[in-house]
This record gives sequence, C-alpha cells and structure tokens, in this order.
Amino acid sequence: MNSRIFYEAAGFLLGLLFGSFLNVCISRLPRNVSVIRPGSRCPDCESPIRWFDNIPILSWFLLRARCRSCGKAVSWRYPAVELGTAVWFTIQAARLHTVLRFYFFENSHSTPSSYAPSAILSNLGIFILGFLLIGLMVMDWQTGLLPDSFTLTGILIGFVLICFQAIFLGPTEDQVLLPPHSIQLTSVGAATENGNIFLTGPEALIGGRMLAILGAALLMLIIRWLYRALRHRNGMGLGDAKMLAMIAALLGFWPAMLSLFFGVLAASVYAVYLLARGRAKADSKLPFGSFLAAGGLLAAQIGDRIIDAYARLLR
Ligand SMILES: [Zn+2]
Repeated sequence: MNSRIFYEAAGFLLGLLFGSFLNVCISRLPRNVSVIRPGSRCPDCESPIRWFDNIPILSWFLLRARCRSCGKAVSWRYPAVELGTAVWFTIQAARLHTVLRFYFFENSHSTPSSYAPSAILSNLGIFILGFLLIGLMVMDWQTGLLPDSFTLTGILIGFVLICFQAIFLGPTEDQVLLPPHSIQLTSVGAATENGNIFLTGPEALIGGRMLAILGAALLMLIIRWLYRALRHRNGMGLGDAKMLAMIAALLGFWPAMLSLFFGVLAASVYAVYLLARGRAKADSKLPFGSFLAAGGLLAAQIGDRIIDAYARLLR
C-alpha cells in the first residue's frame, strides 16, 4: 500500500469531500449562517438536497447544472471548488508520499526518521492552507468579504503547527551552523538553518514565526495607510492583512512576501485588462483578496524554488 497512486487517489477523494464542505462554507460564512445546520439546501427554493444529488462534481453534471426541485441554474462554482480542492489535495498527498518514502524507506540509515516530523507538519500546513485560500479566493470575489473564521483560524493553526515542529526537532536540528566555516554551536535547543546568534532552536522557530505573522500584518497595515493617505479612500480591507498574516503563519515570511508580489502582479494585469476593455474606471474596486489568495497558492507550490534561486543569485 506504499505506492504513489494510492496516496494520490486517497488525496483526490478526500479533496472532493473537503471541497464539498468548502462550498457550504463559501455560501454561508459571509452571511454568518452556521455551516453545520441545516443540511445542504438549494439557495433558490430552499428544498433539501438529497445525498445522491450531492455527490461532488458528478451530481452537477448528472443534474445538468440545475436544481432537481425548482430547475434553477446551479453555478459552475460548485464543481470548480470541488475539483480545485481535490487537485490541491492530490498534489499534497503525492508530496507526503515522497516525504514518507524518503524518511522511512529509502534513506532510513543516512537520514533517521526523527527528522520526518518537520517535513510532515509543513506538508500538513500546506494541505490546510490550500483549503483556506481556495475558500477565501471565491468568497472575496463573490462577496468582498474575508471571514475571520478562515483567516484568524488559519493563523492559529499555523502557529500550533510550528510549535509542534519545535517540539519534535531532529537530533542535529538543535545546532546552529555559522557560514562560511560552518562552526557548529550546540546549545539547549538550537536549530540548523533556523537558528542565529540571538535565538537558537525552538525559540528561533517559534519566535521567528511570530515575527513573520506580525511583520506580514504590519506591512499590509502600512500599505493600507499609505494608500488612504495618497488616494483618500480605503484600497484594502483589514481582511487582506489578516490573510497575509495567515500565509506567513503557515509558510513563513518570505513565501508570504512572494504571495503578495504575485497577488499585486495578477491584480495589476487584471486591472489593466479591465481598463483597456473599458470595463472599469480608475476608481473601480478590485477584490484584491482573491488575487492575494491565488498568489498564496502559487507561492505554496513553487515558492521554495524561487526563493532558493533568488538567494543563490545574491550570494
Ligand atoms: Zn431549487
């Protein structure tokens, strides 16, 4: 049962279920309605949706995108969110398979499995980040709202995961390597890479992540303040600041900055497109949170490679 395809299939099915639940969150959270009760209902005629009409993706096609009771059209958003979440979970499940095989099967002599928790926990964080960002992307696009129940919960989850990572550090992850001569300092709980002269080990990991969260939120507040001072209107909601803090909590500071960069880039391209087509004026509002969420998704998948390449460039 250790084959990659098994993990991918399990990830896909789990993603479909979570995607289905995410649709309920997207429909109800911006209206402050419970996501638990009542069960799924048609938003138009309020008639309950039976289980066989509620199968992710499949039911939408079988019912030809219409409600069985009233015949009103059902948005393509529903199967799209289910498919998107399923694809995200498939990618992460494949990565989890790689991590588990690396630590527990192939290199179990050279890299003991006591190093595995860090990799597994950050993989879990990206699973959760994808769920939250896909939800926030659609909610901001449709309603202009970024509910705290997603952003603040995401910050909390990110922080708890990094605490677990600090608890389960591997044997030499409690050491600080000082380039260029790689002098090793060992202290009570220091960490390779994560340590520096001032903080080592778990303190560096947890303190660093706290700084990342606060730094990301503060940066967005400064941008918001500057925008208001220059344009005399609000360009960004507080939800955007909380979302960037959430990305920083789950990925770290630099991937969060990369998300912001991708988000600003995508929003600018879209704004220019709208202006060129005469479909927007200079003071039209854009759901920036949707672009930031898309940037976060991209950074979570390819951020490490870009940041590594950039760091090598500067060296
Ligand atoms: Zn209906």
